[in-house]
Amino acid sequence: MLRIVNPATEDLLVELDADSSAWIARKAESARRAQVGWAATPLEDRIDVIARFCALVSREKPALARILTQEMGKPISHSENEISALPARVDYFLHEVGKCLEPETVWRDPEGRMEERIEQEPLGVIANISAWNYPWFVGSNVFIPALLTGNTVLYKPSEHATMTGLAIARLLHEAGVPEDAFIPVIGGGEVGQELLSQDVNGVFFTGSYATGKRIAESVAGRMTRLQLELGGKDPAYVCDDGDVGFAAESLADGAFYNAGQSCCAVERIYVHHRIHDEFVEAFLGVVRRLAVGDPLDPRTAVGPLARREQLDFLEDQIEDALRKGGVLLCGGKRLIRSGYFFEPTVIVNANSRMSLMREESFGPVIGIEAVRDDEDALARMRDTDFGLTASVYSRDQERARSILSRVGVGTAYWNCCDRVSPRLPWSGRGHSGIGSTLSRAGILAFLQPKAYHLRGGRP
Ligand code: NDP
Repeated sequence: MLRIVNPATEDLLVELDADSSAWIARKAESARRAQVGWAATPLEDRIDVIARFCALVSREKPALARILTQEMGKPISHSENEISALPARVDYFLHEVGKCLEPETVWRDPEGRMEERIEQEPLGVIANISAWNYPWFVGSNVFIPALLTGNTVLYKPSEHATMTGLAIARLLHEAGVPEDAFIPVIGGGEVGQELLSQDVNGVFFTGSYATGKRIAESVAGRMTRLQLELGGKDPAYVCDDGDVGFAAESLADGAFYNAGQSCCAVERIYVHHRIHDEFVEAFLGVVRRLAVGDPLDPRTAVGPLARREQLDFLEDQIEDALRKGGVLLCGGKRLIRSGYFFEPTVIVNANSRMSLMREESFGPVIGIEAVRDDEDALARMRDTDFGLTASVYSRDQERARSILSRVGVGTAYWNCCDRVSPRLPWSGRGHSGIGSTLSRAGILAFLQPKAYHLRGGRP
């Protein structure tokens, strides 16, 4: 039995039956049977149903945003933003998928007797295990291109976004995606594990490094395509020529948006020592203005965390940081009221021995450290097993690029952070994952090329 609890009030929202092993196996068989028919559906029809899905999502936005806010605590304005931005993201896939599926003749001999051609085929059945923090975004980065390219999908939402996952399924079916082409699989981590033991052709996972590693180990040897979009410990560096006020506003948003529960949230800030104090003052000014409270209130900027366990983790991180020389400037503890609220927290004098600067916080907590110069900043930014994003704030693009080109990350930001574009690949290095979503790469991920050697005339 899955109990969905509102993290702002701790009220029980709903109890749902989790899928049993036998039921998961039946769902996997249905997805397998449906795949050939779905792949044979003309591409224009698949495009039409996904466009209809977007229209339905837009029509139901207020109710869908409320569901998301109630089950995972995201401020209602953030839930609305996520849902409003979905059609633009999906539009990219609708426009690009035809080009990715186009057969390509790569060579023909001068007499025209021999042709070499590449055609793309869907992988087959995709297991999509998803995270709760941006279920509309991170889910649709996978299931939309998967469906458009002719795959069927077994979709396991996180238990903290199950009601959203069920709403996604309902709307896809209402739009015309056959029920067996997109099948929600309901339950917690053990259900995710059971899903992995089914006969699937691709495993696309979004979540933490710890679970990603377990998944990679459990599918090893199966020769199944594996893609992992994992966590980060994303650094930002403010150079001494930067616009301090602008950097403070931008980085506070990057660190505290969605209560810091974004894969590309800013998790570590390095500041050139010459502007350190000025930056900290400006940053604190922004953080102190953040309204913490009821996520259904449109004025709220920081809601509760989605998971209660994270409160203990953050308090441990802060205690460790203070023991190792950190100085607490604001926040530092959970709020004593019902719900999983944590005060926006800023710690200066941070250093790389602290868990705060090494392990993903995934909460409204940030460490700031002064650095001597650009090389010092670079060394600290590189000192991590993760590699999702990094940002540099400077008036000088060349200076920023020279630093960013040497940081091992999939995404580099100059004077911005915490930004995702459907046109650019979203990928991680190291513990941040394997493979890419979004961009052409994020469509080709669901396809496998077939090489044709075509000899005309008599052999
Ligand atoms: P988890 O790793 O805890 O869970 C991710 C998904 O895996 C959930 O659906 C979860 O189910 C399921 N799961 C848990 N255990 C297993 C298992 N043994 N086998 C199969 N599935 C399992 O991550 P969170 O949901 O807490 O998401 C937060 C993490 O995701 C952060 O680290 C964040 O950085 C990362 N993330 C990365 C993104 C990227 O694009 N790189 C985007 C968004 C988030 P259940 O929740 O029901 O237990």
